[in-house]
Order: sequence, then structure tokens, then C-alpha cells
Amino acid sequence: MSELLFLLLPVAMGYGWFMGRNSVKQNQHTAKQDLSIKYSTGLNYLLSNQEDKAIEHLIEALLLEDDTIEAHFAMANLFRKRGELDRALKIHEHLVRQKHLPTKDKQHAAFELGKDFLSAGLYDRAEAMFLKLLKAKTYQTKCLSYLLQIYQSTKDWQQGIDLHKAITKINDKRLLHCLANFYCELATLAKENDQYIEVVELLESALKCDPKSSRANWLLAEIYEEHQQYNEACLCYQAIYHQDKEFFPDVIEQMQHCYQQQDAEDEFFQFIKKVFEETGSASALIKYLSYLEREKGNKTAQEFLLMALKRRPTIRGFQHFVKMQMSVQQRNVESEHLEVIKELISAYLNVKQRYNCRNCGFNSSVHYWSCPSCHDWEQLKPVRGLEGE
Ligand SMILES: [Zn+2]
Repeated sequence: MSELLFLLLPVAMGYGWFMGRNSVKQNQHTAKQDLSIKYSTGLNYLLSNQEDKAIEHLIEALLLEDDTIEAHFAMANLFRKRGELDRALKIHEHLVRQKHLPTKDKQHAAFELGKDFLSAGLYDRAEAMFLKLLKAKTYQTKCLSYLLQIYQSTKDWQQGIDLHKAITKINDKRLLHCLANFYCELATLAKENDQYIEVVELLESALKCDPKSSRANWLLAEIYEEHQQYNEACLCYQAIYHQDKEFFPDVIEQMQHCYQQQDAEDEFFQFIKKVFEETGSASALIKYLSYLEREKGNKTAQEFLLMALKRRPTIRGFQHFVKMQMSVQQRNVESEHLEVIKELISAYLNVKQRYNCRNCGFNSSVHYWSCPSCHDWEQLKPVRGLEGE
């Protein structure tokens, strides 16, 4: 009899396993049912514009199933796009708190939370999030970019420069260009206090970050000029021409002054002639005409101007042509007509914006190093074409 009972043991074990399996299945089924109830309730609230209740239900659903995480990110992004930052924050903060999530998802949530804080203007909290994520390779470049954006808004130039090592390591040109301008900002402050050595060192660092920074060379030229190092200043102005031909017309006057100080005006005009031939710049043309008029007379200068206008007409060139015509006219009816034309052109040019952002198209009559619209650096340059250079 006892042998028979012993034979029944495997049957009992099999039954136990079968019942246990059913119980697990039953639990899973119940969990799925709970999840779908949470979701459908959440969606119902969402559709009936009761977003806060919807968030509560959808957040609870996350505790039940990790597969729903992408849906949470999508929902939070949607709220942020709609400007409902408090809701986006609530979801991302909830995700960051979930200890059971994989590192990849936790980092993603922290990054999105940083963006929420930034959009809400909570710079210190955004900064803390992005600094924490600097070691995560996936987010390194993006975090550095946002950090520079924060320091640009708060004018904490030195804090941006403290990221120099990390930015140099990833060698991102856009970030280096931004960093070069942080050095230029500090150099401007040092220049106001006449700290010559600091200014030169800061600008050399700027040029190391971005060898194409015409702003760094422009500031260098200014400090050299202030310290009567005219030859060095002239070299900086020449460098600006090679770095950024579109920005160059703005430094022509200062460049001429430095050449004059060295009694080398002829050399300056040869350089300006080359600039005009290579770029067709109206400012370079007008400057060169003053030399021609002085050295070769009004007739030669006028012929040169007419030839230039036929090749590349500009309103400023035409305005100068009218001025030259007036200077040779006797005071008569014709000169009065020319005066009216000249005033009309001046009035027309006065309402036109001199600068245009090459990045976003923002127009301005004043020059800014950082575009007030897109905040990109060194993008405002003199307008090109018929109404500009
Ligand atoms: Zn812009």
C-alpha cells in the first residue's frame, strides 16, 4: 500500500505544477487586464481634455509594463510642444524616479527633463541635469550644446570656457565656434579695463577654437590699434578679409586709419582695389574711387565707376555716381535736380536694413555678434545685392 502512495507522488507534483502554471497565467492575465483598463481610462480622459487625470492613469500604467515607456516619452513631448510644460515635467520626473528602468531609458528621461527645465527658464535645474549627463556618450554633444546655450543666456562666459576640455575632446566645430565667442566676450570685458595681456591671450584662445573667427581678429586689431601697434592691426584686418569676405566691408575705415598711421596709404588702396575686384563690394569700390579721384582726377574716377556699375549695379554705387556728378556741376537747374535724386536715394537707403543674419534671415540696422533671433554667433553681415554691398 505504501508503495502505491509513493507512486502517486509524481502525479501530485505534476498536478501542483499544472495548478501553479495556471495561477501565473491567471496573474499575468489580470495584470494585462489592469494595464488595458489603466490605458483605456487614461485615453478616455485625454480625449475628453482632462489631461491631468489622463496623466495619472497613464503614469500608473508604466508601473505595470516597461514596454509603455516610449508612449510616455511621446506623450510628454506632445505636452512640451503644446507649451504645457508642467505636464511634460510631471511625466519626465516620474520616469527619472523609476528605479527599475534600464540606464538607457533613465538617461533619456533625465535629458528630456533637462530640456523641460530649459524651456521653463529654470536654468540652474536644467544645467544640473545636463552636467550629470556629460559622461553619457549618447548625450554628450547635445548636453554641451544646451549648457553653452544656458551660459550664453546668463552671460556666464567663464562657465562655458570651463567646458573647453570636453568640447575640444569631441571636436565639434559648431560648439568650438560658440566657445570662441565666449572667449571674445571675456576679451571685450578685459579690453574695457585695458588688460592688454589678458585680451591678447583670450583672443589667441578664441582663434585656436575657431581659426575662422573674424570677431577675434577684429578685437585683436582694435587692441593693437589702441596701443599704436598699427602694423599688427593691419595684419589682423587682412586676416579678416581672408576669414570672412562678407563681414570685411565693416572694417575698411578702421583699416585705412591704421595704414595712414604708417604712411602706407598707397598699399592700403592697392589692397582695397584687390578686394573690389574679388568681391565687387560697394564699400570697397567707393573707397577706391576716393583714391582714383585724388590721384588721377574726377574723369578717370567717373569712368571707373560707370564701368563698375555696368558690371554690378548697386544703389550705393549709383548714389556715389550722383555725388560725383554734382561735384563737377556748376550751381544751376541741373544740379538742383541731382540734389533731389541724391536725397531720394539717401531716404531710400536709410529705411533699408544694413545687416542680415545668414543663418535665419533676421534683418537689422545695427550689428550684433549674436543674432537676436536665432542666437547664432557672427552671422549678422552686411546685406549683399542691389540694395547692399
Ligand atoms: Zn539669426
